[in-house]
This record gives sequence, structure tokens and C-alpha cells, in this order.
Amino acid sequence: HTNTDFTLSIEDLTVSFDGFKAVDNLNFYLDKNELHVIIGPNGAGKTTVLDLICGKTKATSGSIKFLNSELTGLSEHAIVRAGVGRKFQTPSIYENLTVLENLEVSYPHGRGVLGSLLFKRNKKVLDKIHEIAKEIMLEQALDTEAGLLSHGQKQWLEIGMLLIQDPQLLMLDEPVAGMSVKEREQTAKLLNKISQGRSVLVIEHDMEFVARIAHKVTVLHQGKILATGDMEKVQNDPKVIEVYLGH
Ligand code: ADP
Repeated sequence: HTNTDFTLSIEDLTVSFDGFKAVDNLNFYLDKNELHVIIGPNGAGKTTVLDLICGKTKATSGSIKFLNSELTGLSEHAIVRAGVGRKFQTPSIYENLTVLENLEVSYPHGRGVLGSLLFKRNKKVLDKIHEIAKEIMLEQALDTEAGLLSHGQKQWLEIGMLLIQDPQLLMLDEPVAGMSVKEREQTAKLLNKISQGRSVLVIEHDMEFVARIAHKVTVLHQGKILATGDMEKVQNDPKVIEVYLGH
């Protein structure tokens, strides 16, 4: 591997808030087909890392290369257009629109909500909607109003609304929070499928779920990487045990 082979290469990334380094000289790499989970105690800097990648927070120094383009300095919109999708914890679906309409307005027509509803549906868009709906297990619910979906289904719909924009990197913040056991199971399968052909970066607290989905785990602590590798390696790392057990 040279660093240019990675989908995402973060080098020497730092962000300071009034002198406090929330992310401190971070080096982090993500491959295509990789599902990588970031864990760590509250305040470790996990959310800030995702904020930096999607341009919501500006880096103090360092570099974020995505498919060999520099992301630092780009607007949030430009970063989305470059192929980075981010799902926040609170869903941002249109509750009054159907599942199909939610996917349709998210299709990158470049016309916005009203525009895409006014324009006639074409086969290419509909085919894509059906393909995504199948992937997110909502094929039978295409005509259902999104507000009537279960909590888990709403989360999947939002993932679908990102997938329809064809991101090469998808970032998810606690994707199974509030989900039932069955929904978590289905989400694990969904995330595994989504990572094929893309990179997926997840923040997650539920260690059982992390063990279930992660190809690689990174433990953040005080803005720095404490350990990185497969789940077993990370779990048995004395530094990680110390931080989690507090002795
Ligand atoms: P995590 O997601 O791991 O819980 P965060 O990334 O949310 O941690 O926060 C890391 C640290 O950075 C925390 O101490 C938090 O208070 C601080 N922080 C995050 N964003 C800001 C901000 N915009 N201004 C000041 N401090 C911030």
C-alpha cells in the first residue's frame, strides 16, 4: 500500500477549539470495501473526526485526501458532490412524503425537492429507486408515507437517500441507536452489503454490534488513536483495557 491507494487518507489532522485539541495529529486510512468503526469514550473526538471529513468543522492543520483530492477547504456541498455521504443520528426524512418520493427527491437531479416532484419520473430514476429500496428492505413500502415507518425503517430510508447519491464513502453516527434486536440484525447485514464497493465509517458504542460488523476498529482517546486493527487485537490491547475499565 502506498498512501495514495486509500479511499481516504487523513494525515497529521488537528483541530483546536480555543487551544483545546479535540483531534490531535490524527493519521487514519480507509480502504475501499472497508467497514471501519470508531469507538472511544465520550469526548474522545469521534464526532469531530466525522465533522472534519464532511467539512462541517474546519481543520486547524493537516490533510484529508479522498480519492486523491484534498477535502480540507472545500464546502460541505462540494464534499457531498465529491462522494461523501453522512448520516446523522436524527433522521432527516420527509415524513409527509412516501418512501418512493423521499428517494426521488434525494436523487441527484440538482433540482431540489419541488423540482424533482414536478418533473416527470423517468425509467432510469425509477429503476435506481427500486434497486435502492430493495437494498434497504423497503421495496414493499414504496408507497407508504415515511412518517408511518418504524424507527428502524426510517433509519434505513435515510441510508437509502444517501445511497441514491452514489457515495464512495458513507459515514454513519450510531446507526442502530433505538433499534429493536431484529432491526439491528438487519442493519448489520445492510451495512455489510453497503461496504462492498465502498468505504463505510461508523461511530458506535454498542460493542456487541461493533464486533458483529467491523472489519477494523479504531479506538480514539483524547483526540488521538489509542489502538487500531481488528476487533480481537483492539479488545486485548492493554491501553484500551485501561481506558475502558479506568485503572
Ligand atoms: P465524541 O464524539 O467522541 O463524544 P466529540 O468529537 O463530540 O467527542 O468532542 C471531542 C471534544 O471536543 C469534547 O471535549 C468537546 O467538548 C469538544 N468540542 C467538540 N466540538 C467543539 C466545538 N465546536 N467547540 C468547542 N469544543 C468542541
